[in-house]
Amino acid sequence: MLCEIDYQAPGDLLKDRIILVTGAGDGIGRTAAKTFAAHGATVILVGRTIKKLEEVYDEIEEAGGAQPAIIPMNFETATYKDYGEMAELLEKEFGRLDGILHNAGILGSITPVEAYNPQVWEQVMQVNFNSALLMTQAMLSLLQNSKDASLLFTSSSVGRKGRAFWGAYSISKFATEGLVEILADEQENLSNVRVNSINPGATRTAMRQLAYPGENPAHLRTPADIMPTYLYLMGPDSKHVNGQKYNAQPPKEEAAQESDAL
Ligand code: NAP
Repeated sequence: MLCEIDYQAPGDLLKDRIILVTGAGDGIGRTAAKTFAAHGATVILVGRTIKKLEEVYDEIEEAGGAQPAIIPMNFETATYKDYGEMAELLEKEFGRLDGILHNAGILGSITPVEAYNPQVWEQVMQVNFNSALLMTQAMLSLLQNSKDASLLFTSSSVGRKGRAFWGAYSISKFATEGLVEILADEQENLSNVRVNSINPGATRTAMRQLAYPGENPAHLRTPADIMPTYLYLMGPDSKHVNGQKYNAQPPKEEAAQESDAL
């Protein structure tokens, strides 16, 4: 599996790029949005909790980053029409997109398939997969307007190898990997859009804590620690990387942790 943990990004790596991040209010998405802004990008902060998005907005401005944009959106209820309106807004404001990090996600429940609540299953598929598909459909022409666009989907170790009890979460990540393969193949030689997946690995966030309540978070890498691979995949050094599966942490180290699922 590919990894760019030692990648050293120049300070202006993402200068003048317009990058949309979903789930930008918390966890990995929050750090990714701030990191992309710190490397010169104008970031579009998409998420469901406005207060959190406003905090990220303020932190980016205070750090001297380009003025971000906020688009509140709940992926559980958003429809294709909502994504279309969002694309129209971005077309008017920016005319193009140079990157999307599909990052928002929920865990659902850790339950055998046999007993899995179908409503929770649907909710997980909606937030983790369907929303990213619908948003991508609406945004592809904006990405195609860019000279060098990166479409990056967030996967998981259980999206690459099934594991008991991970149910809808795991299936949503397998679906994501499938979509990456199809889109990468479709865009190859047709546009400047590259499509890849990233598995963050065990990372100190609320979702990880929910999945492993007994784990000591101090033993985990922080979202900031895993940013080199995100920067590599979002910036021009990965221009010719398409249809690839990346890990943001070295797999060996991840496996040595209490568990590498999630
Ligand atoms: P997190 O801390 O729980 O953050 C998830 C983000 O998604 C939050 O900003 C949340 O918004 C947003 N979100 C959830 N439901 C939403 C909805 N219905 N509409 C809009 N936004 C919604 O999780 P994380 O650990 O940073 O995870 C980020 C990504 O990495 C996920 O795709 C996850 O599957 C993947 N991942 C994480 C790990 C790990 O160890 N942390 C490992 C492998 C993969 P609110 O803040 O408003 O709730």
